[in-house]
Amino acid sequence: MTGKVRTRIAPSPTGFLHLGTARTALYSWAYARHHKGEFVLRIEDTDVARSTQDSTDQILASMRWLGLDYDEGPIYQMKRLARYQEVIAQMLAAGTAYHCYCTPEELEATREAQRARGEKTLYDRRWRPVPGKVLPPVPEGVPPVVRFCNPPEGDVTWTDLVKGEITINNREIDDLIILRPDGVPTYNFAVVVDDWDMAITHVFRGDEHINNTPWQINIFQALGAPLPQFGHVPVILGDDGQKLSKRRGAVSVTAYEQDGYLPEAMLNYLARLGWSHGDDELFTSEQMVSWFDGSHLSKSPAQWDAAKLAWVNAQYIKATPDATLEPLVAAQLRKRDIEADERLPAICALFKDRCETTVALAGWAAAFYADVTVTEADRAQHLTEAVRPAVAALADKLSGVPWDKASIAAAIKEVLVAHALKMPVLAMPVRVLIMGTAQTPSLDSVLSLFSRETVLKRLKEV
Ligand code: GLU
Repeated sequence: MTGKVRTRIAPSPTGFLHLGTARTALYSWAYARHHKGEFVLRIEDTDVARSTQDSTDQILASMRWLGLDYDEGPIYQMKRLARYQEVIAQMLAAGTAYHCYCTPEELEATREAQRARGEKTLYDRRWRPVPGKVLPPVPEGVPPVVRFCNPPEGDVTWTDLVKGEITINNREIDDLIILRPDGVPTYNFAVVVDDWDMAITHVFRGDEHINNTPWQINIFQALGAPLPQFGHVPVILGDDGQKLSKRRGAVSVTAYEQDGYLPEAMLNYLARLGWSHGDDELFTSEQMVSWFDGSHLSKSPAQWDAAKLAWVNAQYIKATPDATLEPLVAAQLRKRDIEADERLPAICALFKDRCETTVALAGWAAAFYADVTVTEADRAQHLTEAVRPAVAALADKLSGVPWDKASIAAAIKEVLVAHALKMPVLAMPVRVLIMGTAQTPSLDSVLSLFSRETVLKRLKEV
């Protein structure tokens, strides 16, 4: 490959960072990193009515959280209006763009007539200057838009990095508006000027943009600008086979951050959603970067699989050092108004094997910092009359032993022998009283992380 690879992600700040955009960002980032190129973040904020600073902040925060670092940006389109207008002026002078004074009513009347004839609704090019054609008189008080002189005939063909060869005939598309009367460009024009100015070589984006690409290619050509390569990534479908959307559950990166997913696990899962490297399911971002050369991208839609994401996250939680988990779990505990202490890394160590999220881990940790509730069902099942004397004896024993795991284990063993009980018969009720559940890691490990005082107090509730 000659020249430096430059990719970009260009989210519109009209909401949080959508999972689909995060995946496209990941592919663009990985492709640039693989080729030792550069990755640009551009904020496409020309939809002034719907763009908000809050959305931009959320998008930037999600990119940071995911670790998708960019070499340039954020570049805001609304700060580049003068540049778009400059290019528009050049196009008007060169005859590749023209003013159109149609009113919305006139446009609607044209569409209505086309619909009545069973035709596709396309702008009828009435203001397009053609040699020998007499244009209508310029109406007063109608601010013009600028339209692009799209070639009326011929095919636009490109070899898509994901989908292979795509051809769309120019008769399918019309002379699109590239500048609104207020001087703000439309998406298809701004995107071309930006990709050109920013020397973007490879454009990865969602396949909902396939129909925009012929316009963009035609504008690139009208400007004499080099064409980037395009790769249109299929949509992500929800569990129900419909496009992943807000109505069908969490679709923002932020929601997964809050729900206790790790960024490395999200990247791993998102990467596999539409791309593969053999049978590899778990890999680091570094591995992905070394493998991601733009091949093995899936042509068909990917299916969101919440259970698989949870499994991937569980694997990452298991493998993450306790010191790294600690602040994440502490933050989740704080949402429950719990301040953790120096025991938290050891608590993480003990419970992380059984957790899919840091929220679940915080759920276990909470038993060490706040009262637990023992359900009537657990009480009835585990705290039988037969076992109560042994629980009381254990409390008695534990009040006098050194407070460490080995001594606690020895105390439990002595009570088992004295009462001729098997471990689970005593361990279950003790777990229920101490942790609020009968399923926990080994009893001595759990108890040693509590203070003696708390253990004795909870055992007394027998
Ligand atoms: N702002 C567009 C979007 O969010 C970007 C599309 C593109 O990457 O060209 O869909």
